[in-house]
Amino acid sequence: MSELAVKAAELDAADQLASARGKFVLDDVVYLDGNSLGALPAVVPGRVEDVVRRQWGELRIRSWEESGWWSAPERIGDRIAPLVGAAAVQVVVGDSTSVNVFKAVVGAVRLAGEGRDEILVDAATFPTDGYIAASAARMTGCTVRAVAPAEVPGLVGERTAAVLLNHVDYRSGRLHDLPALTAAVRAAGAVSVWDLCHSAGALPVGLDEHGVDLAVGCTYKYLNGGPGSPAYLYVRREHQERFDSPLPGWNSHAEPFGMRPSYEPASGAARGRVGTPDILSMLALEAALEVWDGVSVAAVRAKSLALTDFFLECVADVVPAGRVESLTPVAHGERGSQVALRCDDAGEVMKRLVERGVVGDFRSPDVLRFGFTPLYVGFGDVERAAGVLGEVLS
Ligand SMILES: *Cc1c(COP(=O)(O)O)cnc(C)c1O
Repeated sequence: MSELAVKAAELDAADQLASARGKFVLDDVVYLDGNSLGALPAVVPGRVEDVVRRQWGELRIRSWEESGWWSAPERIGDRIAPLVGAAAVQVVVGDSTSVNVFKAVVGAVRLAGEGRDEILVDAATFPTDGYIAASAARMTGCTVRAVAPAEVPGLVGERTAAVLLNHVDYRSGRLHDLPALTAAVRAAGAVSVWDLCHSAGALPVGLDEHGVDLAVGCTYKYLNGGPGSPAYLYVRREHQERFDSPLPGWNSHAEPFGMRPSYEPASGAARGRVGTPDILSMLALEAALEVWDGVSVAAVRAKSLALTDFFLECVADVVPAGRVESLTPVAHGERGSQVALRCDDAGEVMKRLVERGVVGDFRSPDVLRFGFTPLYVGFGDVERAAGVLGEVLS
């Protein structure tokens, strides 16, 4: 056995989260793409079968009440809340992340009030956030300015309405300083909007603690909710009564079944709803979230850092010098839960890795991404993935 294989075995033996792996449907592929689509929790297929056959097939319309369909967006929001450091009744589940970015950015501009007409957007943002912020700006009479997150404290000012940032950069895996940046936005009187797609479920977020105003995130990455599972919207409690959604559908009405001609917003998290929730996806997500019972986010973070540290160590050892360059910061405080390697022919290299049972992904033009999901990736997987990468690149 190589030294790295011995070390991997020791790390696996000491892993407090090792038993969580049994809660997932896995095979002998090393799956390092959970930052794009989380693996299937074993409890989900049976639950979906029950939702379809019994709740829908037998109870039909009664399920809106009897199976808890109507209240699912808030109930599941409350299950996600502790994973992002939020107290209850501030998170609602529904729609895609893109749609929630729209609600949050327009809602943020409206919260910010008169005289503020600029939206700052993370220059390296996941594209959908940038497209939607630009449209939100046109609709609200604002201009958009693309900025590096670290520059926000120097640029946010009395004209800034909203600041939209990605907590972890989807390409490089860089973790931005949410506490400091949120504080700077708040001090300038602007409204912060954080996109948590690449952080929730991988590291502590602390929305309440750090004074975040609004946040969105998806549930199909580290939260394993399944393809296209609904996203969530966080509206800080102190803003809820003034939050003015640009998509005031009947589900967010104070009295949805009053069928009134005029709109009156619900109080609390329900104000972030729009129309009829996507129940099949939503209840698959609810089942998937059971894997978090008894799991501490701090333990997940500790293992995530140990996994990415070990991967970088293995890569340095087995990949020929100069063949890849890590774009992911070395400092723990700046690292999410993925490692991004710049590599010539990255698309072709990833194809060969996948053929050999190591699944990461390729991001144009030259990035290999490897996501480490602490609930089901082990240190032996890391060592094997790096070994295959070394062989492919030799
Ligand atoms: C994955 C991701 C999205 C995805 O948005 P969808 O509307 O679910 O397609 C948005 N923002 C970020 C930062 C992401 O990583």
